Amino acid sequence: MSDKQKGLIRACDLVFPNAAHRFCVKHMHANFSSAGFKGEAFRKALWTVAKATTLAEFSSKIEEMAAIDIDAARWFDDKPPTQWSRAFFSTYSKCDILLNNLCECFNSKIVDTREKLIIKMMELLRLYLMQRMQQNRDLVRSRWKDNAYCPRIVDRIQKRMEKATQCFPFKSSDDLYEVSCPYGDHYAVNIKEQSCSCRRWELTGIPCSHAISAL
Ligand SMILES: [Zn+2]
Repeated sequence: MSDKQKGLIRACDLVFPNAAHRFCVKHMHANFSSAGFKGEAFRKALWTVAKATTLAEFSSKIEEMAAIDIDAARWFDDKPPTQWSRAFFSTYSKCDILLNNLCECFNSKIVDTREKLIIKMMELLRLYLMQRMQQNRDLVRSRWKDNAYCPRIVDRIQKRMEKATQCFPFKSSDDLYEVSCPYGDHYAVNIKEQSCSCRRWELTGIPCSHAISAL
């Protein structure tokens, strides 16, 4: 990482104190393969650890990887899980992406801007983002004005609604539910706080199947 990139990250931390830096799991998998852990079993093991949303699930999946090859699990020792596993992601940004296509698109758009001095660069970035957000609002209004949500979100909610039919909610108090799911899994849903012990609701802002079952 160059000094300029380090400087940019420090500047971003000042402007966006809640910003989180994340690895791209696709690139991480390429490095993992290059380190000698090739094949479908290792690929699957890595992605299940990255997609785990709770600490318990993370520990269980990393143990499964260690059972395949202890050195594969140790390969992650110097890689902070806060940067590549959903189990450790902050719920502030409502973003659970594990890939960096978004960043690569963004970087290619701001090549000229990145050449400017830091204050000018931040000002141009602010202007670019302001306009982009408005363009997206206009796009949503023109294409999906009759929908309450964008199509991808609707698709995700529909899939979770199907899953929710397999769950049974038990009301515990005005806002709390215990949701029982197949294979004996139980989750605690808090409607008022918009949270579930699986953390998917907080991570994305989109209710998980357990929350939908309770709702
Ligand atoms: Zn849940």
